Amino acid sequence: MSNIYSSIFTRIRHAGKSPRRVWLTLDDGPDPINTEKILKVLDRHRIKAAFFMIGEKVAAQPAVVQRVFDAGHRIGNHTFSHRRLTELTAAEIRDEIETTAKLISAFTRDEKIFRPPFGAIDQTVCAIADDLGHRTVLWNVDPTDWDLQCQPKGWIDKALHATHKREASVILAHDDRRTTAENFDLFIRRLKKSGRIAFENPATLCAIAGQLNPD
Ligand SMILES: [Zn+2]
Repeated sequence: MSNIYSSIFTRIRHAGKSPRRVWLTLDDGPDPINTEKILKVLDRHRIKAAFFMIGEKVAAQPAVVQRVFDAGHRIGNHTFSHRRLTELTAAEIRDEIETTAKLISAFTRDEKIFRPPFGAIDQTVCAIADDLGHRTVLWNVDPTDWDLQCQPKGWIDKALHATHKREASVILAHDDRRTTAENFDLFIRRLKKSGRIAFENPATLCAIAGQLNPD
């Protein structure tokens, strides 16, 4: 079947259904090269995303943070040094979150959002994040774009496959990865072709955060 026909059939097949909702989230930046590339792609497609940033990179790349913010994306807290919080003392956990919260405070308008590195979370981490006024936001689609086995483009198939099964997907990708940045436009184009997709604004991330069920 030619591409034109297959895309028409895809549209017909999905015509009666409500669109699948997708939130894009990008972790581990800001990166002077790859974050910038991803910003251009998001701008071209008029999509807003959430960027969970690492404090020590924020301190090193304030101009990139400013551009992410100016482009209308949401900035979240991904700790200061990306350590596994469940292995730290309560004081260390607090410091990891608080230091980063201060660094990004000029760039956070809405409720403060927090994502623990590696998704490593327990009651202590949750309680401290809560106490510091942060809403914890995980994900339910992890295409493992950080994994060499899934680079340069294998992660796109994984993301599409997982998103196809869900009414609502919070997709985790990494804006510090060259292979993710270089293939991000292809990823968005393939996602759009896969059926009716509604790219949701990150302002609504907190509302969906409690309903995420990863595989
Ligand atoms: Zn991370």
